[in-house]
Amino acid sequence: MILHPSLVPNQIGHDIPATADTIAVFDPHTAREIARIPRSGKAEIDAAVAAARAAQPDWDATPGVRRGEILHHIANLIEARSDELSRIVAAEAGKRLADARGETAAAVQCARFFAGEGQRMFGRTMPSGMAGRWAMTIRRPCGVAGLIIAANTPAPNFAWKVFPALICGNGVVLKTAEDTPISSWLLGRLCEEAGLPKGVLNIVHGLGAEAGQALVEHPDVDMISFTGSTRVGRLIAETAGRQLKKVSLELGGKNALVVCDDADLDLAVKWTLLAAFSNAGQRCAAGSRIVVFDKVYDAFVDRLLTATRALKLGTADDCDLGPVINQRQLDNMVGAIERAVAGGAALLCGGAPATSADLPGYYLQPTLMTDPDPDSELARTELFGPITALYRVPDFDHAVSLVNRSPYGLTASVHTRDIDRALTFARKAHVGVAVVNGGTHGSEAHMPFGGLNASGNGTREPGTEALDVYSELRVVYLNSQPPH
Ligand code: NAD
Repeated sequence: MILHPSLVPNQIGHDIPATADTIAVFDPHTAREIARIPRSGKAEIDAAVAAARAAQPDWDATPGVRRGEILHHIANLIEARSDELSRIVAAEAGKRLADARGETAAAVQCARFFAGEGQRMFGRTMPSGMAGRWAMTIRRPCGVAGLIIAANTPAPNFAWKVFPALICGNGVVLKTAEDTPISSWLLGRLCEEAGLPKGVLNIVHGLGAEAGQALVEHPDVDMISFTGSTRVGRLIAETAGRQLKKVSLELGGKNALVVCDDADLDLAVKWTLLAAFSNAGQRCAAGSRIVVFDKVYDAFVDRLLTATRALKLGTADDCDLGPVINQRQLDNMVGAIERAVAGGAALLCGGAPATSADLPGYYLQPTLMTDPDPDSELARTELFGPITALYRVPDFDHAVSLVNRSPYGLTASVHTRDIDRALTFARKAHVGVAVVNGGTHGSEAHMPFGGLNASGNGTREPGTEALDVYSELRVVYLNSQPPH
């Protein structure tokens, strides 16, 4: 079944411009080329920004409630075409179909949530110090929103940015992730089929340093929302800062999962496996530091090691983890493991590519390491793959201090049956998301997500908080005279 054109086009206003140069898109499971995308640059970004700018005033004039109805249609269409979208995601990202279906459902839920926000769009009405004066705030769109997304969960990544940007009345230019652009192509088409006026949402494929940078630099883009690495987030913040452009940055993590001496160890093992290895560890919220109390360390590590060795690689429905996104990422991770071992960390299992005749793509064995130097690259740098490191601590205070000894601050989890420990952890872990007795991941469309320090710049998306990212508050004063 052919689900997409072999050359996946940009979606810019009324035109689908031809681009001479193209980039290959690979299925990470097979390492085979499945499509090509235009290698867009400044010209395509200019055209997309102009289209968004031209379409935005009418979209802004469309009542929020009506914009919400269009988002409802979009949600219904995605749901109706969920099989097609999920198959595309599974192929371009190298995932189990079941996982891709879960992500499609998350995108639908996100569209429904923001459709409902079109009926609210709350401002505030406040008292004024002056007689006869009404004071209030209303929300106004930013204008043209430039969105840049990562490859790991392509459908939710699209939904988390595009739907709040649209409901707030912005014109949108989305730069897709070059490894997983095909799902964005289909989602863009479904948006137009559902009645989104042409030009309101423009989708441009290409490389980060070319199309992405051109979008960030464009003087007619009013705000940038970026999901990706801390390295690129810093570049974007610098460029946007020079223009005093509004920026929302959803960046990386080095998330800790703490196993206390009173934890349910089976539950802790189950969540550690999911946090560290689901989606092949390619989550900003992946658990890459497992901090275990001395008292239960040996028992926990025994069970975790047995369970990790039993994990099945592949993309069939009975598999536990698939490949990483591309060859470059696989090479990076093998290099990081070699450097960690050279630096004194011990390899408990995994540590090498798992590519074989059945798994021809970019597979890495799920990797457990122990005893890294807390200041080493392994301890401090996000690797974004199925690699996690175990740390032994004597007690709760040492656990919390290790959790916070990180340049990042995205998520953290604690496994304990003690309510005092749980609540203290929720207060003291220096993160944007704290979880008790669960994984380090698992965010929901109606809840704000985001992190501290190198994990972001303080904004929160999605949830109602995303409206603060994609709209500007305007204060309105109404002055009236008493009637005579
Ligand atoms: P990346 O930073 O390399 O790329 C992300 C996007 O930025 C891609 O679309 C890429 O083309 C673009 N880009 C690259 N260079 C650019 C530049 N100079 N200017 C503008 N755009 C540029 O990240 P990746 O490897 O694709 O994704 C993994 C990263 O994303 C991890 O760090 C992960 O933690 C992070 N992530 C964060 C969240 C979150 O919500 N906090 C969610 C998912 C992924």
